[in-house]
Amino acid sequence: MRYYLDPFGCVKNQVDAETMMAVLGRAGWEQADDSSAADLIIVNSCGFIESAKQESINAVLAYRRVYPQKKILLAGCLAQRYAPELAESLTEADGFFGNADLSLTAKAARAVMEGESRPVLAGDAAAEIALPADVPAPGDRPLLSLPGSAYVKISEGCNNRCTFCAIPGIRGPLRSRPVPGILAECRRLLDRGVKELCLIGQDLGSFGAGPAGDVNGGGLPGLLEALSALEGRFWVRLLYIHPDNFPLPVLDICRRDGRFLPYFDIPFQHGSASILRAMNRRGTAESYLDLIAAIRSALPDAAIRSTFLLGFPGETEEDFRALLDFQARARLDWAGAFAYSREEGTPAYSMKGRVPRRLAEERKRMVEEQQTAITQERMNRFIGRTEDVLVEERINGEEGLYLGRLPCQAPEADGAAVISADDPLEPGTFVRGAVFARAGLDLEVKAFSRQQGG
Ligand code: SF4
Repeated sequence: MRYYLDPFGCVKNQVDAETMMAVLGRAGWEQADDSSAADLIIVNSCGFIESAKQESINAVLAYRRVYPQKKILLAGCLAQRYAPELAESLTEADGFFGNADLSLTAKAARAVMEGESRPVLAGDAAAEIALPADVPAPGDRPLLSLPGSAYVKISEGCNNRCTFCAIPGIRGPLRSRPVPGILAECRRLLDRGVKELCLIGQDLGSFGAGPAGDVNGGGLPGLLEALSALEGRFWVRLLYIHPDNFPLPVLDICRRDGRFLPYFDIPFQHGSASILRAMNRRGTAESYLDLIAAIRSALPDAAIRSTFLLGFPGETEEDFRALLDFQARARLDWAGAFAYSREEGTPAYSMKGRVPRRLAEERKRMVEEQQTAITQERMNRFIGRTEDVLVEERINGEEGLYLGRLPCQAPEADGAAVISADDPLEPGTFVRGAVFARAGLDLEVKAFSRQQGG
């Protein structure tokens, strides 16, 4: 039988999709490249915020319109969060499969195909994340990521309880994977030719903590020390470190071993002390600026990405000005902005002082506008430099032109490197080159020829 998987949402969901594909493959299912050729359509949904939830539901409705007879399984965070309710209301789907225990993917698919009346399989979100033996090793899973890059999920769930966030309710409390399992996955991925390992979790800074305490000992720095024993030329990129839990010892590891990129995704969310408090965050604009200064003093080349949330309940014009001021002083390399989404089951849901959507969107636009200018100025520092570039693809119809990324550019989030090369380049490989210009948020790179040591 053939399945078609439509992945939605964040990179953590992408790793889940890859794991589901591995489990289905092991159970004899074939992957269809196109939904029309599939017996089963799996929508791997996102359940984080209203717009993402609606996008996932719309996908099910669209598939049902196009394929009145085909079987449709709603999987992922939306199913994990609302399976009982959706089983009542979303009659267009034939089954619901949460993401608490992905080893059950083939069981859920079979139940739908055998016409079991709308099976609902949403396991216990607090369950341990150790996959049973009969599931393919994580390092062997199919990859949906860009050429040469792979996401490695080192933990699941979160204990931080930010008041606007529904994720702990979907993904459960923090559970950290044992280091030996992560090491084996990374080694296997490198053996398969992967060049960039993007470590992900809800908060890498809390790695190690869990119901059983710090099972690994050493937290994130301990894991990086273990990874530094791996041989070869590769990058390790750290995505999503809560600013209140940033483990400073990682800076020294990055300084000692250049394979650990001076790149940090740290969602600061706001710059107003009262709003940060209401978000259940311990830091302040000043403590976050100190963190940024500490990172840049240890790693002058460091690139920092962040996220800002606009329109949180109670946000005044003064609070917003504090955020803009923080953003202007932080001079982050990259930052995304989101309008607050009121999510039931979160503490902020019942908070007073709701901000009109139109105003939240306007504030989001102003943050994005200020960030574009900051990012362009920050990227200018790379002009004239020689850098390693991870090649991703040849630009269609353009001889000798490729897209890729520098260490300061994360996949699927930041700008790209536009590479001009005299020699043909292989996607998923490194090339050395000189940055000669910036174009918008992208950097233009001239690849060194093989003779030049490219
Ligand atoms: S750190 Fe906060 S925002 Fe991130 S997943 Fe945890 S609770 Fe949600």
